[in-house]
Amino acid sequence: MAGLPGMLVAAPRNLALAVALCALIAFVRPVLEHSVYLGRLLALPPPKDLPQPLGSPRARMHDSWHASRSGGRRHEGVDIFAPRGTPVRSTTEGLILRRGSNRLGGKVVWVLGPGGHRHYYAHLDAYAHVRSGERIQPGAVLGYVGDSGNAKGTPPHLHYGIYTPSGPINPYPLLAAGRVNDARSPRPGGKP
Ligand SMILES: [Zn+2]
Repeated sequence: MAGLPGMLVAAPRNLALAVALCALIAFVRPVLEHSVYLGRLLALPPPKDLPQPLGSPRARMHDSWHASRSGGRRHEGVDIFAPRGTPVRSTTEGLILRRGSNRLGGKVVWVLGPGGHRHYYAHLDAYAHVRSGERIQPGAVLGYVGDSGNAKGTPPHLHYGIYTPSGPINPYPLLAAGRVNDARSPRPGGKP
């Protein structure tokens, strides 16, 4: 009883199914690839030293971890001062968790890095071309130094925080260790 009319109906159905399958594969494949990468990222040991995210000789930082802040808060990170617009680079590889804004941090970017550590870059003047879910390499530009959020009107700086699965940690010793490594590594054109 299928006959011709039945086939005419079936063909568009098959086509629709094929299109739906292609769309599903296109959707699922990056999700699967991301899941594999996410698993690898979480299993990686967290870094013992980190490059300075501004990488600029004009950047200044000191250890202000847990310094008092308004409302009885403690400073959960370090502030790195540099001219407005200085590029802010990811200290690690990872996935962009969020590019957005909040009251204290202003324009912020969250990066999920090795060992499940979340890296928080705040007070940005502007974002770079990054989007949530994107996979990034160390040194990827996330945004630019500014004074957004509760830093409005203060000298432009990056607020950099690291949150482990068991709470925030002081980024300063890791950055200081990274600075020692930078100084030890031979520079292009320098004497060995
Ligand atoms: Zn800060």
